[in-house]
Amino acid sequence: MALHCFYGGTFDPVHLGHLAIARAARDQLQATIRLMPASDPPHRPAPGATAEQRLQMLALAVHGEPGLVVDRRELDRSGPSYSVETLRELRQTLGPLQPLALLVGADSFVGLPTWHQWRRLFDLAHFVVAERPGVSLDQQLPAELQQVVSRRWASASSQLHEQPAGLVFRLRHPLQPESASQLRALVASGGQWKPLVPAPVADFIEAHALYTARE
Ligand code: ATP
Repeated sequence: MALHCFYGGTFDPVHLGHLAIARAARDQLQATIRLMPASDPPHRPAPGATAEQRLQMLALAVHGEPGLVVDRRELDRSGPSYSVETLRELRQTLGPLQPLALLVGADSFVGLPTWHQWRRLFDLAHFVVAERPGVSLDQQLPAELQQVVSRRWASASSQLHEQPAGLVFRLRHPLQPESASQLRALVASGGQWKPLVPAPVADFIEAHALYTARE
């Protein structure tokens, strides 16, 4: 069955690391990847750009990219973007049998036990975990998470198409050093930040004078 894959994040701003992961997931999973900006991030401080600006930058970044689309559902809902709520909403639309996956970076995944109702997430969706520099999925999983995922690792991406939820797939791809907070700091300090984003996103950041204040 077709796998529905959602990639949530603050995307403040979207950078080449995000895009590389989304492309790797698209190609390895044979699925359209829906990039879904969060409205009011529950896991980190308030973003530097408005939600609509973050959405516009995402639209610029995926323009003309096959298999990558932007999904604004979390912006159209009031309140914080808890993944468990988004996945419940998606399940209502897709029904109980359709395979559904959430794409996250390794740093997000090791922090999963801080997420709202995190154990429920495995009933609702698979996780696709992208490796990230500085985070070891072999050594840094908290014990309670390790316990939950130990019997869930998928050895092949095809397994994610065969059941609706509950597996964890490790997305292996060339490591991507980019980070949004590092990029914002570079903009504020007048450093070399443009190579970290697609050209239309760089133009947008300049046109709206985003991230010029130091955090
Ligand atoms: P920050 O650097 O400020 O923490 P970020 O670059 O992680 O921000 P987010 O919008 O928070 O940007 O990331 C969305 C998702 O993408 C998260 O799950 C994050 O782990 C993942 N991600 C972002 N950048 C990378 C990267 N370079 N490699 C792997 N995963 C990444």
